[in-house]
Amino acid sequence: MTTVLITGASSGLGAAFARGFAAKGCDLVLVARDKDRLDAVAEALGREFGTAAEVLPADLLDAGDRAAVAERLAERARPVDILVNNAGFGLPAPFPYSPVEDEERMLDLLVKVPLLLTHAVLPGLRERRRGAVLNVSSVAGLLPTGTYGAAKAWVTAFSESLRVDMEPYGVRVLAVVPGFTRTEFQERAGMDVSSLRDAVWLEPDAVVDRALRDLALRRPVSITGGRYRAYAFAARHLPRGFVARKMARTRRAPAGGPDER
Ligand code: NAP
Repeated sequence: MTTVLITGASSGLGAAFARGFAAKGCDLVLVARDKDRLDAVAEALGREFGTAAEVLPADLLDAGDRAAVAERLAERARPVDILVNNAGFGLPAPFPYSPVEDEERMLDLLVKVPLLLTHAVLPGLRERRRGAVLNVSSVAGLLPTGTYGAAKAWVTAFSESLRVDMEPYGVRVLAVVPGFTRTEFQERAGMDVSSLRDAVWLEPDAVVDRALRDLALRRPVSITGGRYRAYAFAARHLPRGFVARKMARTRRAPAGGPDER
């Protein structure tokens, strides 16, 4: 039996990953802050697929909670075979207009948490010579797009290099690189996405289906949708300065600020 630990499993892409792995017959360990929502996900998957889902409520920005999740990942008696580093959030204002504490929290959740949890799970995976780490990055990480994009660029680069290092041990590593996806992300970040056309939106289940296929095919990076694969191609081939200037237009200082763009 394969056991999958998913962070940020209470909503959006994390809940979709839980469903995707449950449909494949995996056991789950569900991590997020909201215990009631995790219980509801676990119960629904138990009913639909007979999934054994353990609920592990944790605020991953709290050192004690994070250590408990790391301990669960390192347990030899109840091995975790697949880690999905998914929990994340964005900020409403670009750097440097958000409070520096919020910037630090975002960087910790997007970078430090996956680093620490991956460090906890890998020794067991290497020993057992099986398993995988999926890191949820973002198309924003392919482009020069502020501090959120910079953190996601770290996630993608980390995953691509780790994949090569873990290959000899039979451990797979995949960077999942979604574009705009219909989850709670934008609302929680206070982003106004009303001007975005329907065509840019992805469904969480589509991102997960594609990711699970790419994992099976041992691909390094999973990008859902031709539109976003074209962005990725353009991001690699267009002059970096040109792309950075284009992207700067999508970031706005808070209204009324002294140096509003
Ligand atoms: P979401 O619906 O807001 O889900 C975020 C998840 O992270 C929730 O389950 C939340 O659960 C959890 N979380 C937040 N802070 C946490 C903390 N301190 N400790 C533990 N869990 C925490 O957004 P989503 O779109 O599914 O986001 C999942 C990942 O996809 C993120 O890494 C995001 O950056 C990435 N992504 C999203 C999009 C998009 O357009 N949606 C695009 C590209 C990449 P609790 O509130 O219960 O803790």
